This record gives sequence, structure tokens and C-alpha cells, in this order.
Amino acid sequence: MTIEYPACALVLLCGPSGAGKSTFAARHFAPSQIISSDQCRVMIVDDAATQAINDDTFELLTHWLRLRLKHRRFSVVDSTALKPHARENLTRIARQRRVPCYALALDVPVEECIRRDARREGRQVGERVIRQHHALFRQAKQEIARDPALAGYHILSAEQMESVTISVGQAAANQRAFDVIGDIHGCWPELRDLWDTLGYQWDKGNLPRHPQGRLPVFVGDLADRGPDSPRVLRVACDLVAANAALFVPGNHDDKLFRMLRGRNVRRTHGLDRTEQQLLALPPQERAALTADILTHLASAPPYLVLDGGRLIVAHAGIRDDMIGRRDERVRKFTLYGDVSGFESGGTPIRRDWAQEYHGSAVIAYGHTPQDTLRWVNKTVNLDGGCVFGGFLAALRYPEREFVTVPARAAYAERG
Ligand code: GDP
Ligand code: MG
Repeated sequence: MTIEYPACALVLLCGPSGAGKSTFAARHFAPSQIISSDQCRVMIVDDAATQAINDDTFELLTHWLRLRLKHRRFSVVDSTALKPHARENLTRIARQRRVPCYALALDVPVEECIRRDARREGRQVGERVIRQHHALFRQAKQEIARDPALAGYHILSAEQMESVTISVGQAAANQRAFDVIGDIHGCWPELRDLWDTLGYQWDKGNLPRHPQGRLPVFVGDLADRGPDSPRVLRVACDLVAANAALFVPGNHDDKLFRMLRGRNVRRTHGLDRTEQQLLALPPQERAALTADILTHLASAPPYLVLDGGRLIVAHAGIRDDMIGRRDERVRKFTLYGDVSGFESGGTPIRRDWAQEYHGSAVIAYGHTPQDTLRWVNKTVNLDGGCVFGGFLAALRYPEREFVTVPARAAYAERG
């Protein structure tokens, strides 16, 4: 049995004292990822057994958790989490921080918990308390199974606790089925149309999810020129944060990142519009979105190698000899394409790398608007020029089918 969590998630351990929560956490997670109520007690009064300071313990615990989730750190809360309000306090923080929350309940028979507690070094909780915990736990198992605040839950038996493996942030790497989405440029209505056409459904956290777990992959240029770049950026951040989408940066995104870092960039080619749209957001929302863009999108690799190297995604494409390299020339190529120089007027001289591509991997890219989608030597340009009134495109991989939706309007003039 394997449990998969996204790279950024909150896991709530749940179970009676003596079930083995702390032991389990230490075996499966890094010490820095574990937020333990016992540890909070130690930090406050040097003693993990002092129950009398519960309010202070959970004040410290929730503060610690807020800070970790603010910085998008995978976190495991090691407390009993037996009572609904105790779990609510934690799921609320996850929701505020837009981090998916999972319950992981350890279902060990009460007699075994009592035996383990008795053998525990240092502190014993005692049989009476453990029996109380168990009564609450029977309730808790039913409650977490229907708690809408949870993105998922697992209830492990003592045997499963021994054999389970837990993987964090690996879901994308293990994925085989992708929907690679071309240049969006703030075309939020068309992006929704595309997800509908691809069969995605909106989950409780208002994120698009495919029923078969297909993963959206953005080829970049999420923003600029279009009607609602902030909405597109918001959903892309949330998906990437939840490990439910992948992203490679385009040249427009790269420039946006520099602007958001406070660098002086020219507000041309639609960046002026994105800036206006961002400034129109409530200040808190704008600050959160800026932080999320810089955390989740700006850290993306220049290109993606997927499906064991059979699928490459790069905004402006990539040459076969560049796959596997990570230097500045490769990064520039993936952002701007095969620019061999500039004409006297400043227009880039572009070479068509796709014509010369003879590699075996499929290369999905975008960057320059196309009137129709076509394969050129296992490469496909998915930029349908949606923002100019064209269409928004996706490549279904491994099926190699195209799915397109028409632009609802021409939001900008080509040029
Ligand atoms: P918690 O109160 O749920 O955090 O439980 P602990 O992790 O502190 O474990 C309680 C006691 O049970 C400790 O002495 C552990 O060494 C022991 N223990 C934990 N997990 C297991 C297990 O899987 N098998 C056995 N036999 N003992 C365990
Ligand atoms: Mg413990």
C-alpha cells in the first residue's frame, strides 16, 4: 500500500495516545516536517506530559503550522486530533492557506495501545485516558470519512502501519497521462471552456480535477493581453501547489516574475494590462497571489521531461542536444526560441528548430501563434493565438489528440 501526498499538504495524524503516531511520523517524515503537540509542550514547559497547558500548547502549534503553510512546507501535525473542533482548527488554517489537508488515522486495538503506553519510556498516559481516547476515536473515524474540509483520508490498521509506504510530491513524476495546454495569456473564460471540454470537474477547493487523474501541464505565457490574467495565475498557482498541475515558464511569465520581484521592466506586450488587473485586486489578495506566483511558478524548471523522457514540454521548444542540459543558453532557448540574431530594426531572426528536430521524444511547446495545429517531426506548437481571437489548445498525451476551444473574443490585436 502506498499513500501519495502532494508536495505541499497538511497531514493530520489521528489516533489515541499509544497508537504509535509519533513513532510512525518519525519513520515516514523528516523531523522538520513534524509539528508535534508534545514538542510544543516541551518548548513551553520542558515537559511533554504536562496536559494542563493545553491552550498554550495549541496556540504555539497553530502558530507554527500557519508559518509553515505560509511558506508552503509539507507539514504533519502529530496530535490526537480526536475531537471535531481540534481538527477544525487545523483544517481551517489549511483552507486559509489554500493547502490540501488529509487525515491519517492509526487504528490500533485499545488493548495494544494500553500495552504500548505501559512500555513507553518516561511518560505513561494510563489506561483510563486511553480508553476515553478510543471511544472518541470510534467517532472520529466516521467523522473524517465524511468531513468536506479534508481532501482525503486514510485509516490504517496496525498491520498496514507496518507495511505502508508514503510518497510526497511524487505524483507528477509517476504520472503518464497529461493534458498539455497552450499559451493562455489571461483567457480565463476559454481556459474554463477547455477544462470542461477535456472532462475536468471542479472539486471542493474549486480546482479543476480530471476524474482519471490526468495532469494539466501549462506550456507557459499564462498572463498578458487577455481579460483576466490574475484568475489564470491564481488557479495555476493553486494547482501547482497541490501537485495537480505542472508548469514551465514562458517569456511573458519570466518578465512578470521580474516585475513582481520589483525589477524595472517595460510594461509592454500586454504586461501593462496584467499589472492593472493585479492592482485592481484587494491588497491582501494581490499580496498572496504575488507570493504564490514567486513561490510556485517562478521556481519551475525551464522545461519538463515527462513519461520517462518520451514527452518534453518547453515554452518555445528545445533542440534535441539541449535535453538534459540546464545552462543559461538552454533556458533562453526555451523562453524565446531559436533566435539566431536580430534584424537592424530589432526584429528577432528566428530559425525553425522543429524542422531540424529528429529526436524520439514528443516536444510540446507554444510561443508563436498558429492558425492550425500540426505535427512537425514529433513536435507540436500548441499556441492557438487565443488572445488574438484564435483558439485555446490542449494536447492529450499519450493519446496525441488535440482538443481546442474557440476564443470568445479577440482581446488584443496581433502585432
Ligand atoms: P503516540 O502516543 O500515538 O504518539 O504513540 P508513540 O509513537 O509514542 O508510541 C507509543 C509506544 O508504542 C512507544 O513506546 C513505541 O515505541 C511503541 N510503538 C509505536 N509504534 C509501534 C509499533 O508499530 N509496534 C509496536 N510493537 N510498538 C510500537
Ligand atoms: Mg505521540
